[in-house]
Amino acid sequence: MADWIVQPPGWFRSLLGRGTWRGDPSRKTVYLTFDDGPVPEQTPWVLDVLRRHGIRATFFCVGDNVRKHPDVFRQLTEAGHEVGNHTFNHLQYFRTAASRYLDNADRCSRIAGSPRLFRPPHGQMTPQAVARLLRTFDKVVFWDVMPRDYDCRLTPQQVFDNVRRHVRNGSIIVFHDSVKAGDRMRHALEASIEWLERNGYSFDTVGNI
Ligand SMILES: [Zn+2]
Repeated sequence: MADWIVQPPGWFRSLLGRGTWRGDPSRKTVYLTFDDGPVPEQTPWVLDVLRRHGIRATFFCVGDNVRKHPDVFRQLTEAGHEVGNHTFNHLQYFRTAASRYLDNADRCSRIAGSPRLFRPPHGQMTPQAVARLLRTFDKVVFWDVMPRDYDCRLTPQQVFDNVRRHVRNGSIIVFHDSVKAGDRMRHALEASIEWLERNGYSFDTVGNI
């Protein structure tokens, strides 16, 4: 089960229709993404790491966090990073009426500058919902590597190992700039960036896929 989450198999990806899981497999480029922020405890720290390495990334923001932390949100947009929509209240698609879900995504868009990308919280989607969201967004973004930095049963080293073992050309990698991901994210992010740089990967934003 764990590895299945870390790198979902192709048959599962195709079930979700026109979602985006990975960039061009012929290019040695990866896409760092950060979900669930912005929060003052983590996001400025992430921005500092990215700045030191000259990397632009994609932040799938929760609208309510943008509302609570407008200064942190401004820091990330002014640093040139890309913003994606992660709903206003981090709703689970399978527990929410479709109309309420779409309204909640709209509410996030209004406060977050109308992002062109959407990522469903917990990866919960149907192919029909993906198609519906693609009327509003350019891409509905899933992932190629989910190192599970949110999982308190893993050590920071195990989170990094999940990146190192599974990353490949075009990988969209998910970290969480959330309080919960804490030091697991911090350690794994720095170790991953250094490892990826050493191994010749370059970095781009999901909007360029
Ligand atoms: Zn999330």
